[in-house]
Amino acid sequence: MEIPKFLIERYQFWKKNTFQDYKDIYEQASKTPQKPIAMIITCCDSRILENSIFGGNIGDYFIHRNIANVVPSKNDKDQNIQTLSAIEYALKVLKIRNLIILGHSNCGGVEHSYKTLLEKKNIKNFEYINQWVSCLENSYNNIPNDFSETEKITFFEQENIKQSIKNLRDYDFIDKLINENKLNVIGLWYQINSGLIKFLDNNNNFIDLG
Ligand SMILES: [Zn+2]
Repeated sequence: MEIPKFLIERYQFWKKNTFQDYKDIYEQASKTPQKPIAMIITCCDSRILENSIFGGNIGDYFIHRNIANVVPSKNDKDQNIQTLSAIEYALKVLKIRNLIILGHSNCGGVEHSYKTLLEKKNIKNFEYINQWVSCLENSYNNIPNDFSETEKITFFEQENIKQSIKNLRDYDFIDKLINENKLNVIGLWYQINSGLIKFLDNNNNFIDLG
């Protein structure tokens, strides 16, 4: 095993600069339990810099990433354990009261899912991804036929966020927190090229965040 040069250089830069600047905060953070202001479920995509977008400092956000930022339904028993264990920890142990589903434009996971479900075949024999994206099938089925391909993908990305929020309600402990107004669920869609973020309003429409 070889440690790549970029890793060493970037680490050393961080240790000498950023870490030094926030040394006291890191020291303090090690002495107290974490108390994040929100959990963010987002995509594995390297272009999603949630801490940069929302000004995250150490301890601010409890992050879970998976391909296409999905909260699988309770019926997806083979798929939901990882995401749900992260949510369970966030809500029951850390008692986080804001849960953000952050989807995005140009999502490779959504696009792969679209192709897989459209062509009903195991594209390129992706053993694991194809199984994972099967939990987007409900959202896929809602895509209007008369949309252009680009519109269909954007719709699918946003529908996937709506469906994930619906799926949260499948789980009794989450449903109960929402009903008791102890959990605020926020749906966001981020457009990479423009920096635009849309949020899901109470009428289930995506509106510019500003
Ligand atoms: Zn993605």
